[in-house]
Amino acid sequence: MLWLVFTTGKCNLICDYCGGSFPKDIVPWNATYNIPKIKSLVENDKDSTVIFYGGEPLANPRFISEFMDRVKANRYGIQTNGTLTKMLGEKYWRKMNVALFSIDGRKEITDKHRGRNIYDTVIKNASYVKSFGVELIARMTVTMDTDIYSDVMHLINLGIFDKIHWQLNVIWTDKWDIKKWANESYLPGIRKLTEFFISKLFDGKIIKIIPILGVINAHYFGPYKGSPCGAGYKSVSITTDGRVLSCPIAVREEWAVLGDINRGFKLMEEPLPEQCRTCDLKRYCGGRCFYASKEKYWGEEGFWEVDEINKQYLKIILSQIPEVDKAIRSGSISLDELKYDPTMDSTEVIP
Ligand code: SF4
Ligand code: SF4
Repeated sequence: MLWLVFTTGKCNLICDYCGGSFPKDIVPWNATYNIPKIKSLVENDKDSTVIFYGGEPLANPRFISEFMDRVKANRYGIQTNGTLTKMLGEKYWRKMNVALFSIDGRKEITDKHRGRNIYDTVIKNASYVKSFGVELIARMTVTMDTDIYSDVMHLINLGIFDKIHWQLNVIWTDKWDIKKWANESYLPGIRKLTEFFISKLFDGKIIKIIPILGVINAHYFGPYKGSPCGAGYKSVSITTDGRVLSCPIAVREEWAVLGDINRGFKLMEEPLPEQCRTCDLKRYCGGRCFYASKEKYWGEEGFWEVDEINKQYLKIILSQIPEVDKAIRSGSISLDELKYDPTMDSTEVIP
């Protein structure tokens, strides 16, 4: 199971699609529980992946080192903005399996939304972390400034990141003309990226573009029972005040509380949203973001507008399954190499 462990609600940046730190009364800036409380929960899970989360998790490096010294997990990782990397000692970086660094693609796009020189800092720190053998995932926020093909290819061509993932900026932001952008830029870009992915399969290479790979995984290896991120059924988030949530961004929402680390918690049994139960794409999509389907900040109409784009993206990838079959039959790749479990990386698959 995936354990997203908050180290703090504090963040040192104020990216324009997020807004920075959580108020201390919602997500305290330091853990208010003792680590032994969580130790037995994580250690009783034989498939534990612990991902440090925030705020910016490296704003509280002492918690991370104490946790890693005292709690044994199968896999450790971190979701970071990539600016405070040196705050954590080398010894701990060497124990990390995966690090997700926030970067939006080209320098001008990243710096516009995250702050001046952030791109250069993230690249420098990502290389530093990679030198310890940590697998690196670029985690993009995709806005109307993004050219998905150019920005993803830019990150691939840097040769630093092992996997690329993105999320659409459709949760906390004011509504923007996503339909026009999707038709003119995003969906044509997805088509080009998918063609690139397929062409590389015939060269024997799997380019780990997670929104493509994760859908192909669902085709061959079984459906997502709910949101591919695992929210509430294969993933839980532990806030600094010890609450156990289904989704890490739902820090204010009652529906997300599954329990707490003192009393224990209960996973969700039926995580697929009602509205998705008859959808013919549910196997690949799992209802996409559980939080988005609960909160619908853009209203019912806005939700379905994004969903239509989601369906088109899924169909572009699924239209290439015959080519994937061909690549497998030709022996250039093996079926097993297409297996991908997003809860081992804390990715969401569906943007
Ligand atoms: S495509 Fe839309 S309706 Fe279908 S499963 Fe996904 S979120 Fe639900
Ligand atoms: S994809 Fe949605 S439900 Fe899953 S962790 Fe992210 S915000 Fe939460």
